[in-house]
Amino acid sequence: MATKAHQIASQHPTPHDRSLEWACVGADPRIFDPDNVIELANAKSYCVACPARLVCLQLGLQRQEWGVWGGVLLEAGKRLNAPRRPGWERRPPEPVALG
Ligand code: SF4
Repeated sequence: MATKAHQIASQHPTPHDRSLEWACVGADPRIFDPDNVIELANAKSYCVACPARLVCLQLGLQRQEWGVWGGVLLEAGKRLNAPRRPGWERRPPEPVALG
């Protein structure tokens, strides 16, 4: 699974500039699908000083994403203040290729 950083970098290629390195490179992408406020705070801690924060949030909103994007918790592109209870509806599973 690609990290958000990889998804963003592939869609918004930037010049080689170390100051634009995404803060979540190498992080477990599951961090950004928090189940409670403690996990949400942990995810946001990556985003708080990330140079890609605005690009990331814009991408999350445009693509109607789920999870933490640009330091904001999204559910199908809509902002949430806190994760819903454990087991909240997540992004529908990707369709499985047949054949
Ligand atoms: S804003 Fe957060 S989720 Fe987005 S690239 Fe930066 S650290 Fe990753």
